[in-house]
Amino acid sequence: MELVKSQSNVQNFINGSFANGEQESLDVISPIDGSVISKVPLSTSQDLNNAVISAKEAFVDWSSTTIKERVQVFFRYRSLLEKNIDELSKLVQAENGKTYGEAKAEVEKGIELCEFAVSLPQIIANEIQEVSKGVECRTERKPLGVVASITPFNFPNMVPHWTIPNALVLGNTMVMKPSEVVPLSVVRIAELLKEAGLPDGVFNVVNGGKEVVEAICDHPDIAAVSFVGSTKVAKIVYKRATSTLKRCVALGGAKNHLIVLPDANLQMTASNVVASMSGCAGQRCMAASVMVGVDKVDPIIERMVEEAKKITPGDNLGTVISAEAKQRIEGYIDQAEAAGAKIILDGRNTTVKGKEGGFYVGPTIIDYVTPDMSVAKEEIFGPVISIIRAKDVNEAIAIENGSNYGNAAAVFTQSGGFAKKVMEEASAGMIGVNIGVPVPREPFSFGGWNESKFGVGDITGKSSIEFWTQIKKTTTKWNPEAQVNWMS
Ligand code: NAD
Repeated sequence: MELVKSQSNVQNFINGSFANGEQESLDVISPIDGSVISKVPLSTSQDLNNAVISAKEAFVDWSSTTIKERVQVFFRYRSLLEKNIDELSKLVQAENGKTYGEAKAEVEKGIELCEFAVSLPQIIANEIQEVSKGVECRTERKPLGVVASITPFNFPNMVPHWTIPNALVLGNTMVMKPSEVVPLSVVRIAELLKEAGLPDGVFNVVNGGKEVVEAICDHPDIAAVSFVGSTKVAKIVYKRATSTLKRCVALGGAKNHLIVLPDANLQMTASNVVASMSGCAGQRCMAASVMVGVDKVDPIIERMVEEAKKITPGDNLGTVISAEAKQRIEGYIDQAEAAGAKIILDGRNTTVKGKEGGFYVGPTIIDYVTPDMSVAKEEIFGPVISIIRAKDVNEAIAIENGSNYGNAAAVFTQSGGFAKKVMEEASAGMIGVNIGVPVPREPFSFGGWNESKFGVGDITGKSSIEFWTQIKKTTTKWNPEAQVNWMS
C-alpha cells in the first residue's frame, strides 16, 4: 500500500515533539490490501504521565490567553485542513479502507467542527447583573485543566475533531489517545496544529491500547475524559473514570432502526436506506442496521435490492476494518440464514480483483428477520441490513424501543402524523424523518441515549461547552457606604 508520504513509524507527540521510548509496537495494517503500512507504539502509563505533565504545564499560559486569541490558532488550522485535504483524505483511506469520497467528506466535517469552535467567543459571552443595589453577580466559563480524548477506528480524522477544537478553544489542554488501529491521521493533526501556531504541550498524543486508556482514567491530574467507541469499552471507561471523580462522557455502539411505512416515497426511501446501511461499509455509529417494514413495503424492498446491486466493492464501497471484522460480519449473516431469515442480497465471500488481500464485504439485505435473532439485536458494524416486518407503527416503535441501544432512529413516510409519533416515541437521541443518517450539524450536538451514551450532555455542538468548562460565579460590591444586609 503506497501512502501519501513515506510514513515512518508512528510516534507519540509530547510537548510539541515526536518521540518514542522503548515501547512494544503493533503493526498498522491497511484494510485495502492487508499490507503493513506503519507501526504504532503501545505506550505505558509512564508515557501517559509525561504527556500529562506537559499538558499541565502548558495549561498555565494557554488558559490565561483570551478566547479571542485562542480561536486565531483554529482559524489558521482550519485553512491548513483545507489546504491539505487531499493528503488527509488519502491518509484516512489508507488506514481505514473507506472510499476517497467518504474520507474527504470526513475531513470536510472536521473543517465544519473547527468552524463551530471559532464561533465560540460569540456563543459563550458571560452574564452580568446588578442583583441588589451596588452588588453585581457575574458568570465566567473557565476551562477544566488537562482533559483526555479517546477515539475509535471508524473516523480517524473526524472523531478527533469532535473534541480537539472545542476543548482547546475553551482553554483546556489535551492528551489524545487515538485508536491503535488507525493512528496515522492524528499524527498529521498534531503536525498541522503545531504549524497553525498551537503552543507546545497544549495538544499531546499518546498511542496505544488498554493500558493507556486505564492510565488516563486513573490519572489524578486529568479532569475530564471523553470516549467514543463500543458500548463494552464505554461502560468500562465511564465507570473507571468517574470512580476517580472525573467528568466523563462515553459514547458507545449502536443498532439504528429505520421504520419504513408503505406510503414512503419509493425511490427516495430505497436509496436513503441503502446509503445509510452501506456508507463507510456500514461502519458508522449512525448506520441503518434494522429496517422495520410496516405492512406492505415489498416494492420498496425490491427497489432497495436494485439500488444495492449498483454498489461495487472496491469502487463505491470500501473495506471493513480487518480480517476479523469480515469474519464476524459474515458469521452474523450465516447465523441469520441458519435461524430461518432470507438473504435476499448476499455480500459474503466478496473479493476485489487486484485487491485480493482487502477486507471486503458486499452489501447484504436480510429479510424476514425476527426480533430474537442475533442480527436483530447485536451491533454488526458492516454493510448489512436486517428487515423485520411489523403489522403497524405501534409494533414498529415497540421493536425499535426494544433495543438496548439508542443512538439514532428514523422514519420514512409522507404522513406528518406518523412521523410525529415516531419523533415522540422512539427511544433514541437522534431522530430522522425521511433521512437515513440523521447526524445533527453544529450548533446542534451529537449524542445518543440508552447504552449508546453514558454521562450527561453530548460530545459536540453547544452541549459540549458545558462538558469542557465550569462556571465561576463572582459577586462584587464596591459601595461600602451601602447598608449591609444578608443579600448585599
Ligand atoms: P473500541 O471500543 O474497540 O475502541 C475504542 C477505543 O477504546 C480505542 O481507542 C481502543 O484503543 C480503546 N480500547 C479498546 N478496548 C479497550 C479496553 N478493553 N479497555 C480500555 N480501552 C480499550 O471501538 P472501535 O472498534 O475502535 O470502534 C467501533 C465502535 O465505536 C462501534 O461500536 C461504534 O458504534 C462505536 N462508535 C460510536 C460512536 C458514537 O457516536 N456513539 C461514534 C463512532 C464509533
